[in-house]
Amino acid sequence: MVNTETEHVASYYAATINEHKNYPMLNEDITSDVCIVGAGFTGINTALNLVKKGYKVAVIDSARVGWGASGRNGGQLISGFTYSNKFEQFGEEVAQSVWKLGADCSDLVRETIKEFDIDCDLKEGFIEVALNNVQMDELVERKEEWDRRGYQHNLTLVDNSEINDYVGSSNYIGGMIDSGSGHLHPLNLVLGEAKAANNLGVSIYEKTKALNIKPGKEVLIETDQGSIRAKHLVLAGNAYIGKLNPKLRRMIMPSNSCIIATEPLGDERAKEIIAKDMAVCDLNTILDYYRLSSDKRLLFGGRYNFSGNEPKNIDQNLRKRMLNVFPDLDDVRIDYAWAGNVAVTVHRIPQLGRLTDNIFYSQGYSGHGVAPTHMAGKIIANAISNEWDMIETLSKIKHIQLPGGKWFSSTAMSLGLLYYRLQDFIASKS
Ligand SMILES: Cc1cc2nc3c(=O)[nH]c(=O)nc-3n(C[C@H](O)[C@H](O)[C@H](O)COP(=O)(O)OP(=O)(O)OC[C@H]3O[C@@H](n4cnc5c(N)ncnc54)[C@H](O)[C@@H]3O)c2cc1C
Repeated sequence: MVNTETEHVASYYAATINEHKNYPMLNEDITSDVCIVGAGFTGINTALNLVKKGYKVAVIDSARVGWGASGRNGGQLISGFTYSNKFEQFGEEVAQSVWKLGADCSDLVRETIKEFDIDCDLKEGFIEVALNNVQMDELVERKEEWDRRGYQHNLTLVDNSEINDYVGSSNYIGGMIDSGSGHLHPLNLVLGEAKAANNLGVSIYEKTKALNIKPGKEVLIETDQGSIRAKHLVLAGNAYIGKLNPKLRRMIMPSNSCIIATEPLGDERAKEIIAKDMAVCDLNTILDYYRLSSDKRLLFGGRYNFSGNEPKNIDQNLRKRMLNVFPDLDDVRIDYAWAGNVAVTVHRIPQLGRLTDNIFYSQGYSGHGVAPTHMAGKIIANAISNEWDMIETLSKIKHIQLPGGKWFSSTAMSLGLLYYRLQDFIASKS
């Protein structure tokens, strides 16, 4: 039996890994310039940026590289870091520079893939689909703002008469294509990035859980069978941070998101549902997102629950949602079904900052982290090397902490889900 606490979840991605590389467990006391907890996109990209600047870096993960959300997500590479309007209170210059971080983050991923020649099935193109007029208006507004701010890629609005040229479903009234976003195999990306970081000198330790942190001029990170003494610590555990840091844990609401992968559909059938092989996402808060894999399976995902409970019957429940979008797929077999944790924040914008002078964190991508995590890695590395004060700008937004306690947080999350369902319902009636 596979130990899913430490091994990759049984997913389409785990079944199609390019190269299985094991990193050792830490079983001694070591020192490093920087210790990073969490080997997902945030942790590995922070490490990559730092090692290029000449820092000695150690990354630890309680499981495997890419075990968390980074190795099991929908693979949608979507530009946009955070809502720039949240930053308008600090002036237009700040709002513009925060917007630019988001506009550039998918390109940053492309640069990394190119620089290290990572084979991760990158495909260009993303269409956001509207279920109602309120959502269509939101897309029109977004296009206006992004064009005005100077987006380097094309945003194209698609109306009712054209939408089926892209998505073969009768559910949508239109959409918007972003030529600067796309989709990829996230587990092969993070594993490729980890290999690149390791080749450049980053020490990576798997099955090595950070149990305790002692802050100070040098931070001490204690693990099961060893420890790391470092000048800087980066906490990149995101939705899986658990008890390691209760303050960070209370700033996010871990919710589940689930994905099913069908059997390969064949070229013709795949074209009938997503003609131009783009990533697709609807605009509901409890959204559906889907895309084709390189072997033409439909990977169909959906936000699931905010109760924090392990989801049950993922394949049956998501199959129902998939058939609501594509009724003709009722004869198709489901080969894989899996779930993962998403760190949702109250404002639904990522949280980057410092806990002390030398302890940094980034978390709370609210279900849109594949591209933004890469920008977060760059921002934190630049904060450590004192080259860029963007982290100070981003930490100007005050993040709400929920009171502790299992009862409170799961009840708050369930209420949150109800609230979002209600918002989606009201929009659908407009
Ligand atoms: C099912 C699903 C679908 C998604 N789909 C998309 C999508 O299509 N597009 C998109 O942009 N985003 C998507 N997301 C969100 C995206 O995957 C995340 O925002 C992103 O991967 C977060 O990366 P991360 O490195 O911050 O965290 P993670 O990848 O979760 O990594 C955190 C790591 O920290 C480790 N860790 C935690 N605590 C400790 C400790 N004490 N000691 C050692 N290690 C520890 C964990 O083992 C884990 O490996 C999805 C998420 C899920 C779950």
